[in-house]
Amino acid sequence: MTTHSAVGVEALESQHVLQTYRRQPVVFERGEGVRLFDDRGRGYLDFVSGIGVASLGHGHAGLAKALAEQANALIQTSNLYFHPLQGELAARLSSLTGLERAFFCNSGTEAVEACLKFARRYWHTQGATTRVKFVAFQHSFHGRTMGSLSVTWDEHYRTPFQPLIQDVAFADAANPASVTALVDDTTAAIIVEPIQGEGGVRAIPPAVIAAIGSAAERTGALVIADEVQTGSGRTGEFTCSRARGLTPDLLALGKALGAGVPIGAAMCTRKIAHAIAPGDHGTTYGGNLLACRAALVFLDALEGGLLAHLGTVSAHLFAGLRALQSRHPDLVTEVRGAGLMAGLNLRVDAQPVIAASLERGLLVNRTASTVVRLLPAYVATKTDVDEAIGILDAVLKAVTGENR
Ligand code: PLP
Repeated sequence: MTTHSAVGVEALESQHVLQTYRRQPVVFERGEGVRLFDDRGRGYLDFVSGIGVASLGHGHAGLAKALAEQANALIQTSNLYFHPLQGELAARLSSLTGLERAFFCNSGTEAVEACLKFARRYWHTQGATTRVKFVAFQHSFHGRTMGSLSVTWDEHYRTPFQPLIQDVAFADAANPASVTALVDDTTAAIIVEPIQGEGGVRAIPPAVIAAIGSAAERTGALVIADEVQTGSGRTGEFTCSRARGLTPDLLALGKALGAGVPIGAAMCTRKIAHAIAPGDHGTTYGGNLLACRAALVFLDALEGGLLAHLGTVSAHLFAGLRALQSRHPDLVTEVRGAGLMAGLNLRVDAQPVIAASLERGLLVNRTASTVVRLLPAYVATKTDVDEAIGILDAVLKAVTGENR
């Protein structure tokens, strides 16, 4: 493997890579399970996992073998032809989600984009061509393409790209009455993340979930669950929405599903599928053999005991985080999340905690300014959790010291 100096990598990027990211000062070259290794060979405990993506951990032998075999056999044919894996993956996802049909794409934002388009297409097919409004939620994040951005709440992401899709209203995610007031018979769909990830690991309260269900029933509006981050087992069930009593018509999946290989899926009911015609939507790479193979390996692992393992480790993680909160009550205001999607809400900006954790060999990231987010691989163990909690404890102690 070529070893580049960190300085060389940063200098080259600063000249030739568009500067859309503020990267942490570390160059990773290799991974093994929940560990990443930098260009000097130093190991880090990775509780970011590529932002909730490397679900099987790094350097997973079974995944590597399957991908190598697949790369040797066939990677890409386009969607002009059949191949053996897309139907198989769609059938597996259908039985796991209860939604009959899948459209495959390459990222979370594309899965959301497809759901938005399918919702509009559904009403268009019904002749309801003015039924175009989307109701989204404050603090939502659905991706960066123009449609997904239009239903994303944060002005910081939106403003430079205006005008976006005009017909979007943002409901108060803590107030069921706000949903009831905004959803009417011009609403094409309500889009919701059952737990808002980028918005700070905030669960949508049960009363708001119930209000979404009633508004959909009252008006006929479709429900889109964006489970790009919460889905594929991340929150302890294959989908978080169903576990929380929401029955979506459309569902966006991504991140963990490909275990690191880019894949997204927009799932929908038979009713919506019947409104979609050949040519309505498409993508060159979507559902290619390599991506489908990765997702199948992931599902085999998940259904072969990994989901049960995740549940046990999750209980340990949340017990550890609550213990941290009780040890640092001046700093930690709330422990949030489910499964292996967790957030520690702080009274202060989380960035110094992220930086100090990195120095001590733990990768965690910041969302919504004050939240330390943990998204470990599903293969993380209780021992890994203890190590992460130990490092966070030391970091929070140091930060409290600084604040005094
Ligand atoms: N939807 C949700 C809930 C997300 O958390 C994200 C990414 O963080 C996206 C959509 C966009 O996914 P991607 O970055 O793969 O386009």
